[in-house]
Amino acid sequence: MAAKLTKLSNLTADYRARDAAHHIHAFSDMKALNAEGSRVIVRAEGSWIYDSDGNRILDGMAGLWCVNIGHGRKEIADAIQRQMADLSYYNTFFKTTHPPAIALSETLARLAPPQFNHVFYVGSGSEANDTVIRMVRHYWASLGKPGKSVIIARNNAYHGSTMGGASLGGMKSMHSQGGLPIPGIHHIAQPYWFGEGGDATPEEFGVQAARELEKAIEAIGEENIGAFIAEPIQGAGGVIIPPSTYWPEIARILKDREILLVADEVITGFGRTGNWFGSETFGIAADLMPIAKGLSSGYLPIGGVMVSDKVSDVLIGPGGEFHHGFTYGAHPVAAAAALENLRIIEDEKLVDRVRDDIGPYLQAGWKALGEHPLVGEARMTGLMGALELVPNKPSRQQKFPDTGKVGTIARDFSFKNGLVMRAVRDSLILSPPLTLSHDEADQLLAIAKTTLDDTYAEVK
Ligand code: PLP
Repeated sequence: MAAKLTKLSNLTADYRARDAAHHIHAFSDMKALNAEGSRVIVRAEGSWIYDSDGNRILDGMAGLWCVNIGHGRKEIADAIQRQMADLSYYNTFFKTTHPPAIALSETLARLAPPQFNHVFYVGSGSEANDTVIRMVRHYWASLGKPGKSVIIARNNAYHGSTMGGASLGGMKSMHSQGGLPIPGIHHIAQPYWFGEGGDATPEEFGVQAARELEKAIEAIGEENIGAFIAEPIQGAGGVIIPPSTYWPEIARILKDREILLVADEVITGFGRTGNWFGSETFGIAADLMPIAKGLSSGYLPIGGVMVSDKVSDVLIGPGGEFHHGFTYGAHPVAAAAALENLRIIEDEKLVDRVRDDIGPYLQAGWKALGEHPLVGEARMTGLMGALELVPNKPSRQQKFPDTGKVGTIARDFSFKNGLVMRAVRDSLILSPPLTLSHDEADQLLAIAKTTLDDTYAEVK
């Protein structure tokens, strides 16, 4: 046994040295990472990932919020193999198409809210949001209103890492690199009651935050604004679940205004919030809907923009040719993987499961973690949750000095204890596969509790 472990750790050391020599990681402080060494993930199955030291870790983030059906499903591997054999690549530029794109488009039109009957394919969520910027501007220009080019987005939103996606996003750390945002993007407040709600109740604050949109429209002028973009729940910003008053007030503000509403469903799509789309959970009537992640459960890269009839009528009619497209948009093998993924979500009733079964079960245990002396708020919708860590419960207005330090300590304890959670500022974030079993939920909650105890002992 000891000999085997030694062999495994030599393997890990070898992986780490080779990784450090040549690989620049996304969103990583490379100096710190190389000093410590990456965790090397070699295998995954269901809700579990396995590292090169033989550790089994519960994947509480479903990869990057994407592996909705769990890891390692043979049905997807088989669908990919079949499609590879038939047609490994072709595109849908210049009057061509192929069966997987046809079937996937038909399926998406059936599953999406009724106003969506068309989809434009891309390779990722970031490309979907870049497409949104170009599509919104092309839409208004086609209607003879090219001046309507400003897109209003929100602070602390995440819409991707391309120039367009990062510009729509409201991450200051991203804007500070590379001269972002690009012109024509305006950011307003986020509906983050725990962090920014002051003395208001959540309901009061939801209305206040939404009215920032109204103020921005008045300041910029409706004639200059093409769209408002928002995630139904901000994911990477820290699972910010808006107060119940927020989305209805946004709807009131946009009603009768000539401004498109874009619901970025890259995380909230495909069951994550207990409905097929977060828009249904919050009653959002969007005109455009970027999708990715859960569309294929991350088995292969694919994304899209769902286009409502209002917009597609223009794009397919007076808009003429939309000079836009990606080599790998509607990739046949990725489309086949997505189709099989959607079949699994439907056949296994995973959306109902999140709404009526595993969702409420995990939420109840998560809420109980809110009693811990380190936790200021435990929130979760569907299978998307956050624990806000605070120095002085019950105050939510007093924060730890050196924002992010305690969150990172907690995140590292969680990994060590066998559960992947993510740290955002001083909160812990959870977004497990929708296939999570009750037994796995119990294990997850037990590890989260131990993690809070360990962190509390270290920082109190
Ligand atoms: N939009 C949202 C809401 C996201 O959470 C993400 C990624 O986390 C993106 C867009 C970007 O997607 P991708 O990483 O596939 O480019």
